[in-house]
Amino acid sequence: MSHDLLIRRASLIDGSGREPFIADVAIDGDRIVAIGDLGHPDARETIEAQGLVLTPGFIDVHTHDDTNVIRTPQMLPKLSQGVTTVVVGNCGISASPVRLSGEVPDPMNLLGRAEDFRYPTFAAYAEAIEQAQPSVNVAALIGHTSLRSQVMDRFDRAASDPEIAAMREQLETALAEGALGMSSGLAYRNAYHAPTAEMNTLVETVGRAGGVYTTHLRDEFAGLPEAMDEAFATARHGRAPLVISHLKCAGAGNWGNAPKALSKLDDAARAHGVHCDCYPYTAGSSTLDLGQVTDEIDIFITWSDPHPEMARQPLKTIAEQWGLSLMDAARRLQPAGAVYHNMSEADMRQVLAHPLSMVGSDGLPNDPHPHPRLWGAFPRVLAHYSRDLKLLPLTEAVRKMTGLSAANFGLTDRGEIRVGAFADLVLFDLDALEDTATYTTPIAQASGIELVIVNGVIGYRQGKASEPRAGRLLRRQVRLSARPSRPGS
Ligand SMILES: [Zn+2]
Repeated sequence: MSHDLLIRRASLIDGSGREPFIADVAIDGDRIVAIGDLGHPDARETIEAQGLVLTPGFIDVHTHDDTNVIRTPQMLPKLSQGVTTVVVGNCGISASPVRLSGEVPDPMNLLGRAEDFRYPTFAAYAEAIEQAQPSVNVAALIGHTSLRSQVMDRFDRAASDPEIAAMREQLETALAEGALGMSSGLAYRNAYHAPTAEMNTLVETVGRAGGVYTTHLRDEFAGLPEAMDEAFATARHGRAPLVISHLKCAGAGNWGNAPKALSKLDDAARAHGVHCDCYPYTAGSSTLDLGQVTDEIDIFITWSDPHPEMARQPLKTIAEQWGLSLMDAARRLQPAGAVYHNMSEADMRQVLAHPLSMVGSDGLPNDPHPHPRLWGAFPRVLAHYSRDLKLLPLTEAVRKMTGLSAANFGLTDRGEIRVGAFADLVLFDLDALEDTATYTTPIAQASGIELVIVNGVIGYRQGKASEPRAGRLLRRQVRLSARPSRPGS
């Protein structure tokens, strides 16, 4: 019997957390059909993988690639890291269902310009992805701020009952069309005035459909504990599993609080399905938010619409050149993008190593000078934090970017290497693996990724993307449970 593809003698890490073992993997069509000591069966292509590590393709659970999977379907920043699936629509912002009239509300402008928002329904968005044929699979959340932008004339207030009903209807339709769930970005000014009641009603809709609720918390600074409590209560009310986005203790005054935040997460996870995602860096990045302007941390300006000539320098330097206060300089730069060096390394490491966290890049693909997480997050966890610093075992690092992620987002037959699963795979040389993207040179491909396979098709080989692109839209197929994943632990 002849196989389409045979990978021989790889050190196999299957995504479940179990120990590596040496095996051959045979692929026919888009699925894994055999694993073990397979001898020398015929195959259209055989990859000799001795000394290399084979894992499930990485699932980037936190992305803002919504329009990029269509506009730049090669998706090199992700593919080159070994990512085979991106979850779009995080932090309350999604490309659909959106029909814009006028300017792009903050922070939806992270996803593109006005002309990039052209998907009035999730079905239209899904069709555009299928036509674009990106190199990676795409699964999508619906953003709460995007829903608000469709029914509200202004955002600095709570939605009225008819507005909530209209949002709910659009959300229901999108969930029926295959969206995975809903995200919120309550810290952002265009969602901040949404009270718990507004969120409760929408998350009820998510829970009823068997979807997931992800949230960029209302407060990642001093009010972190209360914001976590709000998220837990909303998810419990809606009977939807919860993912806290990029859990962090932001702001110099909040450093050292990771143990408290993680013990809250553990407590909540005893009664309800609760997880978080995390990127392996101590700086955040988003649009420039006046509420985060402070002289306690370094803030780096990555872009500015009115003053592009001032980009790529610290806000402090710009303020000095202009003879303005930090706040006045920030006002003059808006709309703008920023990197905020607002976390402590010790806190971030604890979140990253915690069993309930998954890896998500939160990369910003439309930023001309992006945070290095866009090109480096996954290799950085494996190479820097697992291999070099031994913060967590390699099997656990891989689980956090494959098996755990697929389970939490309901991605059936993904995130694991087993017979019958989709052949989304990455083969890498652990010794050579490095994230090379830095804050100063952020656009740089990782080294050490030998081969990336998406749905049985080789999409990337030794530094180069190849055709055909084989990513698919992954529609929600299963009902997610809101029950705790580790009862009694
Ligand atoms: Zn966010």
